[in-house]
Amino acid sequence: MYPPRFAYEAPRSLDEAIGLLRGTADAKVLAGGQSLVPLMKLRFAAPPLVVDINNLPGLDYHRAEQDGTLRIGALCRHADLERSALLTQTQPTMAAAAPLIADPIVRNRGTLVGSLCHADPQGDWASVVLALGGSVVAAGPRGRRAIPLADFVTGPFENVLDPDEIAVEAVIPAARGTRSGGYLKLERRVGDFATVGVAVALETSGGTVQRAGIALTGVGGSTIAAAEAVQALTGRPLTAEGIEQAADLAARAARPRTDHRGSAEYKRHMVRVFVKRLLSRAGADGSRGPAEENAA
Ligand SMILES: Cc1cc2nc3c(=O)[nH]c(=O)nc-3n(C[C@H](O)[C@H](O)[C@H](O)COP(=O)(O)OP(=O)(O)OC[C@H]3O[C@@H](n4cnc5c(N)ncnc54)[C@H](O)[C@@H]3O)c2cc1C
Repeated sequence: MYPPRFAYEAPRSLDEAIGLLRGTADAKVLAGGQSLVPLMKLRFAAPPLVVDINNLPGLDYHRAEQDGTLRIGALCRHADLERSALLTQTQPTMAAAAPLIADPIVRNRGTLVGSLCHADPQGDWASVVLALGGSVVAAGPRGRRAIPLADFVTGPFENVLDPDEIAVEAVIPAARGTRSGGYLKLERRVGDFATVGVAVALETSGGTVQRAGIALTGVGGSTIAAAEAVQALTGRPLTAEGIEQAADLAARAARPRTDHRGSAEYKRHMVRVFVKRLLSRAGADGSRGPAEENAA
């Protein structure tokens, strides 16, 4: 199918892009186009104007600030993150997820920020950024505002951006200790959306979990933060009992539905398995000191 007629603009400045969004009701931003274009072709979306942000300068970065805060610009592609030495060295949960997003063609164009804006319950980045306590920075006619991801996504395919706002970057806060964790994804075949995905991010210091994040992909109407599981881990050493308890609580937080990808019971079981596996691995990583880590 072809989309209905639409106007197309490719502004060269952020102000111009915001002005265009302001001027036309229901206009849509186009970043990687990997979700928007299929939706338009299927006529699930029919924006009168598409504002292509690919010509905006200086948005293709991902970089760490001196304090360890990570910033990912709106035109940073999945492939940039997949190949990033910075992520391999400092962000185990993100580094694990990047190669699992879709296939190489989609990864070459699609963006992390676009994925957060799209708010697909089966989107992998939302779980990762949620587990890491990240946020989205929006720019609009009234200036900029940072929105924690937990507040940014309001439901399936819904976010809190105003119609004239553009998400300019995602921000991952600096770790409060040694960072460990990962992302596991069950898919029917390579490149598929998640049947179940689990992101775990731990920050450990002196043998105690200072901060934990666990988020679930594809097992509810939107990305799920496993808050009770996180509570069971925080402020304590990571023990085998704690891991079992957190895995059970995370499985209870899941809201899976039986569909062509598997039964609800199977998906819930896989959440438990993945949380246990990721926490056990993270425990092994986090218990090593920085010197041992560098030598590994
Ligand atoms: C075959 C296929 C397989 C896929 N598999 C996976 C997968 O396994 N896991 C996964 O997570 N994703 C998957 N995706 C989705 C892919 O990751 C998309 O790239 C991503 O969801 C959207 O990013 P984008 O940059 O392409 O956004 P676009 O398609 O350009 O935009 C998506 C939506 O977000 C809005 N938007 C985008 N950027 C901004 C911004 N900066 N400010 C405001 N609004 C914005 C757009 O207006 C639109 O509504 C798949 C896609 C395809 C086509």
